[in-house]
Amino acid sequence: MVLFMNKENGNVLTYKKMLEEWNELYDGGDDTNPVGWDEYYTPLHQCKYCGEFTKGTDEDVLCKDCRMTFGHTFYSEL
Ligand SMILES: [Zn+2]
Repeated sequence: MVLFMNKENGNVLTYKKMLEEWNELYDGGDDTNPVGWDEYYTPLHQCKYCGEFTKGTDEDVLCKDCRMTFGHTFYSEL
């Protein structure tokens, strides 16, 4: 599952909650606001091997530690 971390306070939210919070705190419901949610949130997913949270939306990508350990980027390569 991909989750989203608020860059200001470190809270980790689901996509739905993130969009709600972003609308409330940052976007103000303004459709012309050119600043997207990615300015405020970092997408995270859990490493399939060890369960650590790591950046990015591709759930096949291993966390940094596992990439170092195995010398592979993707879980499917293990
Ligand atoms: Zn890992």
